[in-house]
Amino acid sequence: MKITRKDFLRVSGLGLLALAGKKAVRAVADRSIVRVASTPPPKPVRWGMAIDLQKCRKNDGCERCIKACDSTHNVPQFGDHAHEIKWIWKEPFNNVFPAAQTDYTRQFFGDLPVMLACNHCADPPCTGVCPVDATWRRDNGVVTIDFHRCIGCRYCMAACPYGARSFNWQDPRPAIATINPDFPTRTKGVVEKCNFCEERLAKGQGPACVESCEEKALVFGDLEQPDSEIRQLLRSRFAMRRKAELGTGPAVYYIV
Ligand code: SF4
Repeated sequence: MKITRKDFLRVSGLGLLALAGKKAVRAVADRSIVRVASTPPPKPVRWGMAIDLQKCRKNDGCERCIKACDSTHNVPQFGDHAHEIKWIWKEPFNNVFPAAQTDYTRQFFGDLPVMLACNHCADPPCTGVCPVDATWRRDNGVVTIDFHRCIGCRYCMAACPYGARSFNWQDPRPAIATINPDFPTRTKGVVEKCNFCEERLAKGQGPACVESCEEKALVFGDLEQPDSEIRQLLRSRFAMRRKAELGTGPAVYYIV
């Protein structure tokens, strides 16, 4: 078959175009590989808290952390134990860590009030039972609640082995002394709990309870970072977690 000059130019032109196209595709692919490779993966974050009981006991009867949390998050004060809403609360050491008691720790810590809150568990039993996905664990470890989505079934309260969730049996708004406009109020029939001040973390602030503590007994930080203050503290001092044997992986540590 005879190839004319016209045919040759057409075929070679198409070949050149195809080659140029391939090169362009490869260049784009190479660039995207370079771009992907040069973007460092986001560092994992896991927020956690350490509570130094030695420091906490210095200021007997102090409830600054509770008051700071309550006013920041519009926690109602019903004045009725049956309807109490707890984000942070205190219980005697011997109740919190019954297995840790000896005759000697009893003397040392005895009825020392220990600060309690949601443990923001690594494997939280409270989230999986929610039938409407109103509560879940974020990638940064914070176990949160969508108050608007909560239907008040209280399955999460039954699943939490720490009593860290409370239910609004009545309208909480009339029981809030001064409403903080920067945080939502809740309604009757909604469950609530500590959120590790995630609204403050988003603004680069620490939790309200941590900042309110004059004894600096509360240390908050990233458990994934080996050089963070909380990790250094947990390396140097003995710490316990509530009901760690359940395997829920609490992110709140008690330094004794
Ligand atoms: Fe859920 Fe209770 Fe663990 Fe908080 S302490 S994450 S409410 S199981």
